Amino acid sequence: MSWPAATSLLAPLAPWFERVRRELPWRAADLDATHPDPYAVLVSELMLQQTQVATVVPYFTRWLDEFPDPRALANAEDDAVHKAWEGLGYYRRARFLKASAASVAAEGWPTDLGGLAKLPGLGPYTAAAMGAIAFQWPTPALDGNAFRVLARLLLIEGDPKDRAAELRSWLTPALEALGPSRLTQALMELGATVCTPAPACGGCPVADRCGAHHAGRTGAIPPVVKRAKATTSTLWLLAIEAEGHVLLHPPAPRGLLAGLWRWPTLEAATHPPQPTALNPQPITAWPGWTQVYTHRREAVSPLHLVLAERFTPAAGKRWMPRAELHGLPLGKRDQRLRDLLGTAGQVPLEAPDLQVLIKACAGPSV
Ligand code: SF4
Repeated sequence: MSWPAATSLLAPLAPWFERVRRELPWRAADLDATHPDPYAVLVSELMLQQTQVATVVPYFTRWLDEFPDPRALANAEDDAVHKAWEGLGYYRRARFLKASAASVAAEGWPTDLGGLAKLPGLGPYTAAAMGAIAFQWPTPALDGNAFRVLARLLLIEGDPKDRAAELRSWLTPALEALGPSRLTQALMELGATVCTPAPACGGCPVADRCGAHHAGRTGAIPPVVKRAKATTSTLWLLAIEAEGHVLLHPPAPRGLLAGLWRWPTLEAATHPPQPTALNPQPITAWPGWTQVYTHRREAVSPLHLVLAERFTPAAGKRWMPRAELHGLPLGKRDQRLRDLLGTAGQVPLEAPDLQVLIKACAGPSV
């Protein structure tokens, strides 16, 4: 490894960050002291996994109003925790946050990086970021942004994640010299605002020493990782209502949508549309949309079906009072149908066979 010393290479980042830093509600004013509220750092780091800063800010503020410390979060009802997270996606993070808060409330904050990494949901990056930002430990936090910045600065060919161990050793003295919290946040900020995938090198405080910039190779470093093609499914999204109740799936304990209530869905391929005139029940539809997940896309067609009476639901489904719908945690897709129910829809020209559809949602006694 023939990289220049990290402390001198990265030194301009410290004054640059002091000058340009955005005021964020979880950022401490004094970057040389330990953070006055490590819990705020924990909440922000978990929220910022997979979610943009601008989206996180209002959630963070509401979260700290509702759950101001680890004990309050540890004692909260699961539904209240999921409700407060509603709209942020990746709900596992909310459950990890609650479990981490329970650990901290019971045993106090860990005293080293290994202890932080054992808190649920932290992983090596978040534990290192917590160590540096909350506790001023020189623990190098390498996320996608940091890898991109360092790969370009050091002209690293190939996937910089393969050099993670070397990069951590290289970065540690600079964290000690320039301040763990300051340098960690400066690298994050540079990657988020200047050294983005299409970098703005003209405004970069380390452009004069950047290998990729000098070599004219910022577009090639780091190499773009091709994502697997997302699969698409086509679904009917069903709000079935009877006697002031709506049919829902209660939260599952595990999986992508764990902790969330869900509307029933049926594959359009096995429930093809037919002329609505053949259906005896009143039905309302709204324009469909494509719900995008990380590795999956769903083309959903929302329907609202009103029946005279409730039927016995199939296993895994439950009638819930419609009046309680706004108090239940729902994912983005299901919130959208919940909100459509308060708007005027249309009688669709085509819909699936509703008798078959009801049978698919009903228990064996129907
Ligand atoms: S000069 Fe450009 S490529 Fe290099 S670190 Fe700065 S923004 Fe990134």
